[in-house]
Amino acid sequence: MVSVLESILTQNQTLVDALKDEASYLLERQKHTRYQIIGRPKKVRRILIHEAAFLITVDAKNKLQVWPKYSVYIEDGMIKDVFRASQKKIPDKKIDLFYDASKRGGVVITPGFINGHAHPPMYLLRSSMTLDKGNVVDQVAKMAKLENQMTSDDFFLSAVGDFTEEQKHGITTTLSHYAVFEAVEKAAKLTKQNVINAVSAVSNSHPKNSPAMVERILKKRKNYFSTPAIAIHYLHRATPVQLKQIKQLIKKYNVLLTMHAAETESWVGECVSKYGKRTVEALVDLGLASSNVILSHAVHLTDEEIKLVKKYQIGIVHLPTSNKIHKSGEFRYPLFAHYGAEKQIALGTDSVISKNALDLLSEALQTRIMHQQAHRVLYEDLFKMLTSQAADILQLKNVGRILPGYRADLAFWKLRDRGFVPYNESKPISLVGNMITHGGRNIRDLMINGEFIIANRLHNVINESKLMSELQAAHMRLRERLKE
Ligand SMILES: [Zn+2]
Repeated sequence: MVSVLESILTQNQTLVDALKDEASYLLERQKHTRYQIIGRPKKVRRILIHEAAFLITVDAKNKLQVWPKYSVYIEDGMIKDVFRASQKKIPDKKIDLFYDASKRGGVVITPGFINGHAHPPMYLLRSSMTLDKGNVVDQVAKMAKLENQMTSDDFFLSAVGDFTEEQKHGITTTLSHYAVFEAVEKAAKLTKQNVINAVSAVSNSHPKNSPAMVERILKKRKNYFSTPAIAIHYLHRATPVQLKQIKQLIKKYNVLLTMHAAETESWVGECVSKYGKRTVEALVDLGLASSNVILSHAVHLTDEEIKLVKKYQIGIVHLPTSNKIHKSGEFRYPLFAHYGAEKQIALGTDSVISKNALDLLSEALQTRIMHQQAHRVLYEDLFKMLTSQAADILQLKNVGRILPGYRADLAFWKLRDRGFVPYNESKPISLVGNMITHGGRNIRDLMINGEFIIANRLHNVINESKLMSELQAAHMRLRERLKE
């Protein structure tokens, strides 16, 4: 019998041995593919994900399920069937691509995660907020100076960097909030990320933006890869006339409006001096309170405002890491739960200057830690915030669950990973807690709209190594331009 110790040792005991073995290791790895094309399909339309070790999803009754040994059958980007692998066999003639999720410890499948708040064109600014000394206000001012130097090529490259980092962390849908539209559209199309492209109708950095400009985009919405929506930086930055125009656009095109809301008490003060009321009360007065409105941060809300959030079914995006980094204050999660508005909360990454990595599992962990003294946010509720609940808030009809009729946006995670192991095999729900408490990790494969975007940990569209070189060069050019 092999002892525990023997079974975990490598065959090589030193680096020199390991290097000699490298070539055979690489050959061995090539044999590790889970992908098999069947026949000679002109297009890969029909995919069988065979026998995932576990499939984690919220079901049709809104209950979180962890199903062992399940298969998923996909046709033209949509999930057709979800079934226990032992109960059904799909004939080979109905399969173009076979993905074996059972072997070598198996794969865990979850819905692709949904990011409720991001600024993808700011990705080039990562290092601008990591200065060790100086205060945060100076840093933000410095960051804005760099941002002012950015070109549309920079915005595009940034968004590619942002979306691909999100994809590595299992995120397949992103609400982008920024002042430019085309660069985000182009990056979404290239990386195949599902993007709600909310463009500022009122912007300090882009004074030419206006409700009329946003309407020109909305009119052509069917021609775009991304889904256009409306953004405003803060309520108090917009005039009553502009807000009236925005209200008409929401009604005419049934689109989402997103804004930063009550991030700090001083922003609330600005809102009070302009509109005579605090954020949510002002939104109600202005006729803008509805389920088409998504508020990010929403830190400084009163009890009355939280009740209004519930009454008008306003969507909320909680950003605990960003709130900590910017010393914004503490989101009142316990009160949202008290007033029954906690099902209207999704999570977001914000930009790289407000968060460590563009990952939502670590944001779920932050949520758990931030509120645990006053209120325990259950792992199953955190998982819903990343998937089904976020889809409801962003009004995405068939996204965020692995069920027939849903879009095939799937994240594939290796089961034999420190993010899962060890877990209780008789209660596999413990996988969800493990996944969240471990924090961020990379996916093995990623499918968006029925297409593998990442396979065997490599992006199929973007050469990540070259992308890093381009981002680095663009960042330094930005710093050079600031000096001139
Ligand atoms: Zn933000």
